[in-house]
Amino acid sequence: DVVLDAHELYRFYRAGEEETLALRGVSLQVRRGETVAVTGPSGSGKSTLLACLAGLDEPSGGAVHVGGVRISHRPEAERARLRARRIGVLLQSGNLLPHLSVRDNVRLARAAAAGDGRRENLSALLDQVGLGHRAHALPQELSGGELARAGLAVALANDPEVLLADEPTGELDGATEQRVLELLRKRAEAGRGVLVVTHSVEAVRIADRVIALRDGRIEAP
Ligand code: ADP
Ligand code: ADP
Repeated sequence: DVVLDAHELYRFYRAGEEETLALRGVSLQVRRGETVAVTGPSGSGKSTLLACLAGLDEPSGGAVHVGGVRISHRPEAERARLRARRIGVLLQSGNLLPHLSVRDNVRLARAAAAGDGRRENLSALLDQVGLGHRAHALPQELSGGELARAGLAVALANDPEVLLADEPTGELDGATEQRVLELLRKRAEAGRGVLVVTHSVEAVRIADRVIALRDGRIEAP
């Protein structure tokens, strides 16, 4: 029961004279209920892969399907629409607008996917990430751990089939990291697919499967 399917992804970058093949035929699948960790040294293609899976970037070759629907090779507006409804994305740069409260950030993410039926109660979602009492705070008023969980609430705003996260526990202390990992694990238990790019030993530990990237390819286990 595959919820995320990447088939033979290539990503070619040209910057002036410089040409880089950041992805060289990457194929992977994430099933419902599964947590997959992607690891690899800097420059191995992890961010490029995540961006292609999320429909934020277009692969030069290959295809990405989410819940059976192709998201790659579509106009940006269509990719954005599919992403809003089907994929939760948590990037290191953060996904919160600074002038909006936590609650309004989540509301906005929901508005972006207007028309979708399933709606968990907003307060329930904030309680789930432990931010019920911080709903009206602005991002700048939050601690690092609270920011990470607010970002997660935004990523989960539309109950996505797939959650893609780039180093979700990067700068968190041990206890907060455990808490965020617990939330990821619950997503998988609820039958969603989870893929995390991570260097964290703890995050790798909760994964059902680890995919190691090197030079744009998946290393043999
Ligand atoms: P990682 O996330 O594992 O550090 P990246 O996906 O960021 O790897 O980068 C993979 C390769 O692609 C690197 O050689 C990097 O320099 C190159 N690259 C990434 N983004 C761009 C870009 N926008 N333009 C040109 N080259 C890029
Ligand atoms: P492929 O790249 O493999 O040809 P397609 O785009 O043809 O993939 O779509 C794969 C499946 O997803 C098909 O069953 C198709 O009907 C369905 N599908 C494609 N686009 C959409 C869409 N925008 N909304 C709903 N279903 C879609």
